[in-house]
Amino acid sequence: MSAPRTTTVALVAALLATAACTIAPSPRPSSQHMRAPVSNAPAPATSPTGTSTPSAVDPAAVDANELGTVPVLMYHRITTAPKTVYDRTPDAFRAELVRLVREDYVPVTAADYVDGDLDLPAGAHPVVLTFDDGDPSQFSLDAAGRPAAGTAVSIMLAVAAEHPEFRPVATFFVNADPFGDPGGSRTLPWLAEHGMEVGNHTATHVNLGEATSDEVRREILTQDQEIRRTGLSPATLAYPFGATPDEPGLALRGTVGAAEYRYRGAFLVGANPAPSPYAADFAPAAIPRIRSQDATGADAAFCSTVWLDKLAAAPATRYTSDGDPNHISFPAAAAGNPAAKFAQRVRTY
Ligand SMILES: [Zn+2]
Repeated sequence: MSAPRTTTVALVAALLATAACTIAPSPRPSSQHMRAPVSNAPAPATSPTGTSTPSAVDPAAVDANELGTVPVLMYHRITTAPKTVYDRTPDAFRAELVRLVREDYVPVTAADYVDGDLDLPAGAHPVVLTFDDGDPSQFSLDAAGRPAAGTAVSIMLAVAAEHPEFRPVATFFVNADPFGDPGGSRTLPWLAEHGMEVGNHTATHVNLGEATSDEVRREILTQDQEIRRTGLSPATLAYPFGATPDEPGLALRGTVGAAEYRYRGAFLVGANPAPSPYAADFAPAAIPRIRSQDATGADAAFCSTVWLDKLAAAPATRYTSDGDPNHISFPAAAAGNPAAKFAQRVRTY
């Protein structure tokens, strides 16, 4: 479609113009359940007394850089008949996951990313897999109560079965009645019980940039309450169309009468890797994402295949774990600075 753009602002405008995000809303689960351990995740090192042990890995030996950038990938429909650049085929989705495995990426949820709760093996890189709009091609349950064949969740579980180092976790930003499931009453608890995160994508997929502040609050709170009815506590939100409210901070906290909502991170639509959650320039209300896409098509230069190529070609820019969740390690010459609140955990080399 359009030629590659030269600025992020232009790209976001282009993404919005072609946004496929017009599907009905779907709810998202929240945090208590999201913290469930993932079976494929490596067990943290523990001493005989059960306390965490410091990493024995020299950060320099794995080129650790916990101030590096983190790709947050954005998916919509998984379909054998793609209609827009927002659609991916099951084969393309699987191939992208296998690429991530081969390049030592380990998925974490959006909530774990915004919380800086990144317990990864030494040398691994975090990646956040996000799905918008609650499309049934992302997740549905078959008659036996298992993820339906061909859905994103089914494919993730199959990749994890073949590659134990891959954690089958993702974040699903949903509107009302996600996945064709009224209230998300069956689907959302299943996701949470299997280590997935459910996030808020507003009740009716409204453009928050065109809504009044009162409408913004109602859209977020209504969806927050729908998710909570399934027993979950949502912690993150994705802006429909990537459009932010005029009133700063309204995505992260608001009240309607006596009711209040609070979120710890809000995600955009475009168009580049996100800062480390420990970096001084981490902005929780404006976290960029990267659309999953091959290296061709509209704005491909800002999408996943090209960005993963760029990160592989410039590994020093990428977040690489030191294997020790207690410390934030990076080279003394690393670009950027840690946020002041993390100063006590910093370890440079
Ligand atoms: Zn959407």
